[in-house]
Amino acid sequence: MGSGTVVVGAGQAGLHLAVSLRQGGDEEPIVLVGEEPHAPYQRPPLSKDFLAGRADQDSLAFRDPGYYEQAGIRLLTGERITGAEPGLLHTASGRTLPYERLALTLGAEPVRLPVPGAGLRGVCTLRGLEDARALRERLARAERVVVVGGGFIGLETAAVARSLGVRVTVVEAGERLMARAVAPVVSEFYRQAHTRQGTEVLLSAAVAGFEGDAAGRVRAAVLADGTRLPADLVLLGVGVRPRTGPARALGVEVDGGIVVDARSRTNVPGVVAAGDCTVRPHPLTGEGRLRLESVPSAVAQAQAAAASLLGRDEPDTSVPWFWSNQGELRLQIAGLSAGHDATVVRGEPASGQFSVLYFRRGALLAVDAVNRPADYMAVRRALTRGEHLSADRAGDAAVPLKQLLTEGTAQVR
Ligand SMILES: Cc1cc2nc3c(=O)[nH]c(=O)nc-3n(C[C@H](O)[C@H](O)[C@H](O)COP(=O)(O)OP(=O)(O)OC[C@H]3O[C@@H](n4cnc5c(N)ncnc54)[C@H](O)[C@@H]3O)c2cc1C
Repeated sequence: MGSGTVVVGAGQAGLHLAVSLRQGGDEEPIVLVGEEPHAPYQRPPLSKDFLAGRADQDSLAFRDPGYYEQAGIRLLTGERITGAEPGLLHTASGRTLPYERLALTLGAEPVRLPVPGAGLRGVCTLRGLEDARALRERLARAERVVVVGGGFIGLETAAVARSLGVRVTVVEAGERLMARAVAPVVSEFYRQAHTRQGTEVLLSAAVAGFEGDAAGRVRAAVLADGTRLPADLVLLGVGVRPRTGPARALGVEVDGGIVVDARSRTNVPGVVAAGDCTVRPHPLTGEGRLRLESVPSAVAQAQAAAASLLGRDEPDTSVPWFWSNQGELRLQIAGLSAGHDATVVRGEPASGQFSVLYFRRGALLAVDAVNRPADYMAVRRALTRGEHLSADRAGDAAVPLKQLLTEGTAQVR
């Protein structure tokens, strides 16, 4: 028996990669090594049910504790990989781990704003279970929270904080919320919805720094225009930076993330990568380099990576999808809207149930669905099967979208 596969990063992608190797018939040793003290767990509830106190830690675990031994996966938690050379990894505690095949599933880390006061106590980020636990405890005592960044994590956290009765201000530097991911009409809908819940939403507002008290605790966020927002808790939700850890030491190409192809292969033979740490081609067109920070993408890439390590050719061409729960509002996205030249809105935003369909040269690209799961499902199915949807008819919200789908014609992808 050889030294098998080492998977570095025991998160969403790492777990699925190890499981996929076993399911794919791999009988060689598998070591899954992660620096967090926990067995792999789900992150999405950290800004939703776990933060709100509706889910406990045990419910986050992907697998029962006994699974790893049964599956022959050696799980090393609390071990950080600090060095690498071909065939050998070094851990912070002084262990060496030999490998024949290597999978890098290192995830990403929150960006900390480079402004004065960002290191004060009470200025938090949210990525892992320990972050969420600390945030939950602080929220229970907080009176005023400033959330910096109007993206998914910031808004989900704002919704939970409001539901706990805390005063919340969201400060977004851009002109609209979730601008990277959704259409303007969706951004505006969410601005109004959060405002109705009592959250103050400031757009085009940049944070210049934070003020603290003598004990080093945050007391206020200060905006570029001089506005002072009192706060005893701040959440920074301003994006993540991919972790590339041992990649460079091994000669693996890094360009805004670990560069992989549709089969999750890096430029170094025997080294694959998956999840938030990667940049990968567009799954449907094969073009460009994208970073998709989502559970479905991490899982699909992990499966492609496991196939590659097993010598099988199973590229990830799955339709990207994503969800975000903010209070009662369920946003579901399928496809990628970049490059669209037309949008069609189905339903009335004022009704709280609507969707935005994106097209390019008449071909369906994506949907943002707000409390309209049937539209989301129909678009995901259409994109998966290459079915056509006429933009002219799509705006009639009374006709179920799935009735409008027709057998595949040439899709512009
Ligand atoms: C609060 C929150 C809410 C989210 N909500 C959603 C959602 O609603 N829907 C959705 O689709 N996605 C959501 N996401 C994103 C989703 O969780 C990520 O896209 C997904 O976890 C990516 O998986 P990954 O394996 O690439 O990274 P991770 O799950 O972050 O795993 C990477 C692991 O690698 C470890 N690691 C890194 N470097 C080393 C090293 N050198 N040595 C050892 N270990 C190392 C890290 O500690 C980490 O445990 C959310 C993320 C967060 C943080």
